[in-house]
Amino acid sequence: MGKVAINIATGSLLQKEIIVGIDLGTTNSLIAIVRTDTREPIALREIDGLTLVPSIVHFDAYGNVTVGNPAKELLIKEPERTIYSVKRLMGKSYKDVSKDAGFFAYNIIDDDTDALVKIQIGQKFYSPIELSSYILKELKQRAEHILKTSITKAVITVPAYFNDAQRQATRDAGRLAGLDVLRIINEPTAASLAYGLGTKQGEEKTIAVYDLGGGTFDISVLTINNGIFEVLATNGDTYLGGDDMDNLVVRFWQEQLGVTDAELSAFKSLAQQFRMKAEQAKIHLTDHFVYEGMIDDQPVTLTREQFNKLIQPLIDRTITACKNSLRDAGLKTGQIDEVVMVGGSTRVPMVKESVRDFFGRAVHDELNPDEVVALGAAVQADILAGNNTEMLLLDVTPLSLGIETMGGLMDVLIPRNSKIPVKAGRQYTTQKDGQNGMRISVFQGERDLVQDNRKLAEFNLTGIPGMPAGLPKVEVTFLIDADGILKVSAAELRSGVAQSIDVKPQYGLTDEEVEKMLLDSLTHAKDDIKTRGLVEATTEAQQMLDTTEKFLAKHSEELILEEIRETKTRMQYLREAIEAKDKDRIQQETELLNDISRPYAERVMDAALKDAMRGKKVI
Ligand code: ADP
Ligand code: MG
Repeated sequence: MGKVAINIATGSLLQKEIIVGIDLGTTNSLIAIVRTDTREPIALREIDGLTLVPSIVHFDAYGNVTVGNPAKELLIKEPERTIYSVKRLMGKSYKDVSKDAGFFAYNIIDDDTDALVKIQIGQKFYSPIELSSYILKELKQRAEHILKTSITKAVITVPAYFNDAQRQATRDAGRLAGLDVLRIINEPTAASLAYGLGTKQGEEKTIAVYDLGGGTFDISVLTINNGIFEVLATNGDTYLGGDDMDNLVVRFWQEQLGVTDAELSAFKSLAQQFRMKAEQAKIHLTDHFVYEGMIDDQPVTLTREQFNKLIQPLIDRTITACKNSLRDAGLKTGQIDEVVMVGGSTRVPMVKESVRDFFGRAVHDELNPDEVVALGAAVQADILAGNNTEMLLLDVTPLSLGIETMGGLMDVLIPRNSKIPVKAGRQYTTQKDGQNGMRISVFQGERDLVQDNRKLAEFNLTGIPGMPAGLPKVEVTFLIDADGILKVSAAELRSGVAQSIDVKPQYGLTDEEVEKMLLDSLTHAKDDIKTRGLVEATTEAQQMLDTTEKFLAKHSEELILEEIRETKTRMQYLREAIEAKDKDRIQQETELLNDISRPYAERVMDAALKDAMRGKKVI
């Protein structure tokens, strides 16, 4: 028998503590650990024999909470008290989800459109963070029951496209469940880790992770180099998954049996039967060619061929997304070394075949596809516990991040698809004499004008000592940490005045929105270049007008009347050019104004200098 050390002060066993890995899924969640004896990652299995806990939370009239399979059984019977797909609401405002509100059978509160969503159950209101924390609590209790020790630390996975707000919300849910979330890692990264890809020294691989779950589809392209992971591109569809396959089967049988939509919505138990049997049939067809069942005493059948035909359009959509992600990553299918299958729906034979055909290589399906993400989270947890050689995980930013500069232009500090953690900084200056504050507005998006992008945060750098315009040096720094949380700081370098904020946006972006913003940036690229040119010319012209105006006010006595008159005429022409929004004319007029003012400005300055010399005041 081996010896165990005991901490004399606390009496506890000096054993390396267990850090669990958690896949907090849209449809199913589960918890995994790395076994201390065999060093293998395993999903924890309760006495019911199941590893998956449906991500469903039910509240009874007294406020009692049930999570998992017992809650799933109440999904259709008590839709307003049974919460599913809460992951879709994490870190989102009502505005973000309003167009999808029809998807949810429960009540989403819309009293304050920019605030984070809440869900109403009876007389009570719950945030998605609280609801997710119930799922996490259930997983934590299961693990404690199985391992007979308390669990306080975890690694939780999120989709690669999750933004700051969504990651932060996930972290908060963990904290609320009594878990110290040591790391948030990307699901595709976790899946690759579970397969041990790239964990050997000197190994370099490019991996595509195809994740088709219950309601969502994600494709991610990563590289692993010497244990360093980097997400090159992500793509997918937030409303595409196994549930859609079930719905297609339901429709097919509705026709077979002549059952109308109205009848289905009127008879909830019938609808429940249809849905349950459809999922059963789909799963049955994974290793059989024909399904035969009964719904309400009537026989229903489905062959694999019929099923394949039904879901062909869904699969096509996933393949299109695969193409797009490769394009974004700048890779060809031949450059992908490994393809990893994730999500319960990748068990469908035709899904596997289509993915294999598209990439032209065998796919990784040796591990359980609905456990693989949790297994990888456990591997990462094991690394953090110090049981494994340290590996660094890098991810990318889905959209560019920047600040607003003169004329409403977007100045990008961290371009889209940058690896994180990442730090970037740039210097700015003031536009007005004596200006003692500067507004830092943080935006996300690909367009040239901030008005077309999304504002994430705003703050004021105040207390800059009075200096002439252009003299202060304000350094703005963006830092995205390993969890993908953005910190923005601004400092005036001459005076040392500094300020910073953590950007925890009030609302997140759906990945359709991310996609739309990217598409917009492509379709508007030409317009944007034009607008940018105009804005820049106008800004410069405006500055020229301001300086000239000031100069005239201060030095009119030193100028001859003709000079003043001519200057005023040119200024008028320039203003008209600005009014007309004609970039070329603005630039021309700016130059003309400059041409006539430069000689006398130099003359006046020279005179001032000579004066100063005469007064011997030069130090
Ligand atoms: P998520 O990541 O969204 O939480 P999962 O990876 O757990 O979801 O996948 C759940 C989906 O997988 C469900 O739609 C379920 O019906 C489907 N599924 C599970 N087993 C099979 C199977 N053998 N064949 C087809 N679909 C399956
Ligand atoms: Mg999943």
